[in-house]
Amino acid sequence: MPRLIDNYERQIDYLRISITDRCNLRCTYCMPEEGITPLRHEDVLRYEEIVRLVGIGAGLGIRHLRLTGGEPLVRKGVVDLVRMLRQVPGIESISMTTNGVALAPIARALRDAGLSRVNVSLDTLRPERYAAITRRGRLEDALAGIEAALSVRLTPVKINMVVVKGVNDDEAVDFARLSLEQPWHVRFIEFMPLGQHAEQARRAYVSSDETRAQIETALGPLAPAEIVAHGPARTWRLPGAVGTIGFISALSEHFCQSCNRLRLTSDGKLVPCLFSDREYDLRGVLRAGADDEALDALWQEVIACKPDGHHLEGALTTTEHRMSQIGG
Ligand code: SAM
Ligand code: SF4
Repeated sequence: MPRLIDNYERQIDYLRISITDRCNLRCTYCMPEEGITPLRHEDVLRYEEIVRLVGIGAGLGIRHLRLTGGEPLVRKGVVDLVRMLRQVPGIESISMTTNGVALAPIARALRDAGLSRVNVSLDTLRPERYAAITRRGRLEDALAGIEAALSVRLTPVKINMVVVKGVNDDEAVDFARLSLEQPWHVRFIEFMPLGQHAEQARRAYVSSDETRAQIETALGPLAPAEIVAHGPARTWRLPGAVGTIGFISALSEHFCQSCNRLRLTSDGKLVPCLFSDREYDLRGVLRAGADDEALDALWQEVIACKPDGHHLEGALTTTEHRMSQIGG
């Protein structure tokens, strides 16, 4: 089996694909209230193009896909895309990161098409706060999405909570407590200084250590746990808990040395690192009529320039990528 190994001996087997830059919510830490100027339809990769590019990646060693956005569930025909990707030889799992509000009605169809599991982003358990953070969402819809995912076994279901000082950091213990009785795998994410939200992130940053201390003070010590994961979170469990707890600490304890991923943006740029401005225009090359060999060579070039790590702790410089464009 081919393996993609980068210059730092990391095996690259995971591709995150942003399938749209559009979203049905406007989370305050991610998008401006008025939304972003959306890409023109013709600039967005068509499903056949995504499948072709994934085929090249799979030939080189990509095994796991994650669909993200924007909000992946707002793109028409997403169930068909999952089905098409499932048939690409070499692909072993397809997961999705979603805000969950449109998930309940199509969870089963996604599962039947071959989706393996979902991560649902949920930053609060309080309805008014949910409406305020997302500017237009309803908590009950997100919770219904989580319920549906559990009932059709899109599992393990991971719940992503971005901890923002003064906004929802007082709920970390409530989220952790939920893992006691629900099969929720709650992951606390450090607010990352990206794009327009860089300044906000620096003011409202809460480290994973602080969140963890808050949880352990209230609920007791966490013990190591293991769940199926192709991501950077180390996982923990409260004594006797059904679910688990994880911390994604991009800033305080970065996981670059084990980074196994590449990102494909909705307009067809292959990006070696979330925190780098480097990107390679696969769409342009593809639409210019490139054969598989040329695309293959381009993929290898991208891997070769994957940096050893990010350096966000230092200066205030950050990438121009917006989270909603690149998909987290
Ligand atoms: N719309 C989908 C969702 O919300 O799950 C997928 C795309 S969203 C950009 C992916 C993840 O990035 C979400 O969990 C979101 O909370 C997270 N995110 C967005 N901006 C972030 C930031 N500045 N720092 C950390 N996480 C962020
Ligand atoms: Fe949309 Fe996800 Fe960004 Fe919220 S975090 S605005 S749901 S893309």
